[in-house]
Amino acid sequence: MAGLAPEGAQFDARQYDAKMNEVLQVDGEEFFTSYDEVYDSFDSMGLGENLLRGIYAYGFEKPSAIQQRGIVPFCKGLDVIQQAQSGTGKTATFCSGVLQQLDYSLTQCQALVLAPTRELAQQIEKVMRALGDYLGVKVHACVGGTSVREDQRILSAGVHVVVGTPGRVFDMLRRQSLRADNIRMFVLEEADEMLSRGFKDQIYDIFQLLPPKIQVGVFSATMPPEALEITRKFMNKPVRILVKRDELTLEGIKQFYVNVEKEEWKLETLCDLYETLAITQSVIFVNTRRKVDWLTDKMRSRDHTVSATHGDMDQNTRDIIMREFRSGSSRVLITTDLLARGIDVQQVSLVIN
Ligand code: ADP
Repeated sequence: MAGLAPEGAQFDARQYDAKMNEVLQVDGEEFFTSYDEVYDSFDSMGLGENLLRGIYAYGFEKPSAIQQRGIVPFCKGLDVIQQAQSGTGKTATFCSGVLQQLDYSLTQCQALVLAPTRELAQQIEKVMRALGDYLGVKVHACVGGTSVREDQRILSAGVHVVVGTPGRVFDMLRRQSLRADNIRMFVLEEADEMLSRGFKDQIYDIFQLLPPKIQVGVFSATMPPEALEITRKFMNKPVRILVKRDELTLEGIKQFYVNVEKEEWKLETLCDLYETLAITQSVIFVNTRRKVDWLTDKMRSRDHTVSATHGDMDQNTRDIIMREFRSGSSRVLITTDLLARGIDVQQVSLVIN
């Protein structure tokens, strides 16, 4: 298993937190206030009835760690910095915060959410719309690669929330197709990712076009110096909510990477892993349907019992294959990312991306 990241390369939560606190000590002074209240049910958060209906209808029963701490301060209109790894429920946190505070009698953009990628922006749009289903929220995703005209048409018809990528949002603001006058909430999702993609200037430009009194929420897995700079420039006494690793449900999961320099070496590396480790069951995610077929063939020819699914198969076949995998009759499931959601098999001890 040459190349497997050594022990020391593992994510060390304590070191990470220590480092984080160091970074957050600005001029030897804590710049942030903390917010310690924890609400362990959605019902106890004081949310509107129709928002609660949306949350439950979406299938959420209990708030995640970040939601337990993060929704209420956002709803109170405070500037917030919320730090937790991705997949911990940050999206629903700010969506709830935004939905709770909108004035639905005013069909004007009141909240602007920026995300680093088009896909993420569109995903947030969907979550916002679903959670706000009973509130009649109007959300629009403003992302590159789509028709500018169509964006302008939708915006002029009126929306409550715009979710977008920095480029298109700035463009819409500059053309005044998106009116900033009523924007009261501004959310940066995956702020670290946005900054690392070089969106800093655009984010600053957008800030300049927004009203001066605005609630700002920064959501990020990490707080690099550029993100801190944003918080110092644009936020007012922000509340910082940091969900440490031990409060996350991901506890107990170790992440490794194998640095495989050449695509052709991947198969050998993979087979090495299977020979070396005692793996009860595992899932391998690959990028394309063709790769699913290719890898399935290769592994079968090496006497692995493998199940495979991808989007070209009809639902019935997929269900049968999943049942077979769940029953344990095959030990490896090869699949495309698309089908990753909702897969929850207790025996799976290894996931390979
Ligand atoms: P993040 O924004 O931190 O990356 P997401 O908000 O996308 O995380 O949430 C990750 C996944 O967990 C999503 O599939 C989401 O639907 C689900 N999820 C979030 N909050 C809850 C909850 N309270 N109960 C059940 N599932 C949740």
